[in-house]
Amino acid sequence: MHFSVLLIFGLVAFSLASYTFPGWHPDWSPALNWSLGLATALLFFISLLLHELAHSLVAKWKGIEIDRITLFLFGGVSELKSDPKTAGTEFLVAIAGPAMSVLIGVVSILLASLMVGPDFTRRVSEHPEATMKTLGALPTLLLWLGPINLVLAAFNMIPGFPLDGGRVLRSILWAITGDLRKATMWATTAGKVIAFGLMGLGGIEIFYGGFINGLWMLFIGWFLYSAARNSANQMQLRTSLQGHHLSELMDTGFAFAPADVDIDSFTRELVMHRSQSLWPVTQDGEVIGIVTLDDLAEVPPEARAHIKLGKIARPLDDVDFVSADLPGEEIMRKLAESDYGVMLVLEGGKVVGLIRQADIMRWMVMHPG
Ligand SMILES: [Zn+2]
Repeated sequence: MHFSVLLIFGLVAFSLASYTFPGWHPDWSPALNWSLGLATALLFFISLLLHELAHSLVAKWKGIEIDRITLFLFGGVSELKSDPKTAGTEFLVAIAGPAMSVLIGVVSILLASLMVGPDFTRRVSEHPEATMKTLGALPTLLLWLGPINLVLAAFNMIPGFPLDGGRVLRSILWAITGDLRKATMWATTAGKVIAFGLMGLGGIEIFYGGFINGLWMLFIGWFLYSAARNSANQMQLRTSLQGHHLSELMDTGFAFAPADVDIDSFTRELVMHRSQSLWPVTQDGEVIGIVTLDDLAEVPPEARAHIKLGKIARPLDDVDFVSADLPGEEIMRKLAESDYGVMLVLEGGKVVGLIRQADIMRWMVMHPG
């Protein structure tokens, strides 16, 4: 759970207990409002989790590994280890979440209507306030939870990538064109257009005095825009790396750190004159570990002249290696998993290069998609 979940949980519980429920039930005690508010907020987050679980379970059923599910401000993200292999799989994974939200919404509303009786709709339209007052605690909870899940499903089905609706759109475009790259570009462009639309509406809303609503729309629009742009960039990167190998873009101009040199002279002679931030440590021509810039910095300046690099080197089993013939499109994923943001590249058991984000950026500059 992202920390913003706690904030939103508090806000949801607070607004239910202080505004929504007292508005429906002026005669309820604060204790009742608050306990029902907290319970409802909890069930709301459980429905967010069920939405994500639906995505993940379908993905798993289709043979895609799930890294984790993160709940945050706007809902959740299921992090799949790889992209769906076919348009059909993508469609099923994407639609599963909103389908779950619709299911929760419909079941909640059905349960509530069983409790309040068949003529509820007529009564509520004739005497809204008096009728809402007669609702018990459970129907009150369900009549908030049900519609909010339908709203959640509707929001997620907005056809802008990377929202669920955008993924559904991409899967359909993918099925029609047979071209994942084109489909992604169109679906992310739709995402950007919708994001700009939201921000524009937010601006208009603020202009006409709806400050909080307007700000909220601006915020969601901006969030959606940057998500769409990131997805488009990632796709471009993947396409430009396709058919190439790590050895074509790795950094080969790196230096080794001899284990028997002290930190002080190593810093003066090499560290200060290179952009390298991770060093393979060698002893008798063999790589025995690594040191990072942070490792060196941690040693107090007065002690650096007396400590040899070999002494502070991290053991090799602590280090991420990649093979020089790693396919281009896998580099980003490997790098994202690495602990130091830089990895050693091996060929025939020897360290032949380093790879980090900046090397990939250099590739992109020279090979725009
Ligand atoms: Zn979803």
